[in-house]
Amino acid sequence: MHITRRTLIATGGVALAGAALLPRAWGQTSVIMGDTEVLSLSDGNLELPADFIFGPMPQDELAQVLAPFSLDPQGALTPPCNITLLRRGDMLVLFDAGSGTGFQPSAGALPDALAAAGIDPYDITHVVFTHGHPDHLWGLLDDFDEPAFANAEHMMGAAEHAYWTDPATVTSIGEARASFAAGAERRLAALPDITLFDDGAEVLPGVSAMLTPGHTPGHMSFRIDAGADSVMVLGDCIGNGHVAFARPGWPSGSDQDMAMAAETRTALLDRLAADGTRIIGFHLPDSGVGAVARDGDGYRFEPA
Ligand SMILES: [Zn+2]
Repeated sequence: MHITRRTLIATGGVALAGAALLPRAWGQTSVIMGDTEVLSLSDGNLELPADFIFGPMPQDELAQVLAPFSLDPQGALTPPCNITLLRRGDMLVLFDAGSGTGFQPSAGALPDALAAAGIDPYDITHVVFTHGHPDHLWGLLDDFDEPAFANAEHMMGAAEHAYWTDPATVTSIGEARASFAAGAERRLAALPDITLFDDGAEVLPGVSAMLTPGHTPGHMSFRIDAGADSVMVLGDCIGNGHVAFARPGWPSGSDQDMAMAAETRTALLDRLAADGTRIIGFHLPDSGVGAVARDGDGYRFEPA
């Protein structure tokens, strides 16, 4: 069942349990940093032809790189979709809104994951977007085309918002992604309001934005600070647990500007491996929570 405004009214919603930690639910992993709780909730998974990611890569080396991951370069991929939820004081912040029901049948499970965790969508205070792709954005509206998180302030990087609301994008983005552009424009227009921010902004107390472009033009990642501790919400700038780590410099078909995305990914992995920062990746395995380790000439994802 998907929660909608009407079913919530019918059932009276689900109350949060005081100041206690949120109950654990299916597909959920949590990071506790003092008074800050960061959860990874599952929105389900995508189903993609492997070629969508691997197509532009050096095919002669690809099979060897993929061998440890039991992936078929000609087969299908089922990347998980991990939504980050931050809870601190009165803030209940979602990073991305998931797919909703209009993208792929295997995705759009966030309302169920929230319900299982005892979280009322009406209690979400902020929805902060990494970028405007369907699996991150389309869940902002419910099945009645009303804001799914009706009391939340919605926030997006200014460059990313300008790109997806530009009427020219639907033609400039290319045929394969034209529906992404139309879908984003329609959904963003349905929001009564959106707060825009720039690279480096402290978007919320202890949450700072970092421009990580290439996957999309204005893709943002976020660092959540809690005292001396921190966790990076990556979105899709490191977009999978296999080739993105093993061969970060390779072009990936999932990135809109493949060269820029490779540059962003390579620089970020170098930094994350050096400082040991904890990460949450939207399409990384094992709930996406872990860290980056050096591995030969590349890197590997180490789940928490
Ligand atoms: Zn994605």
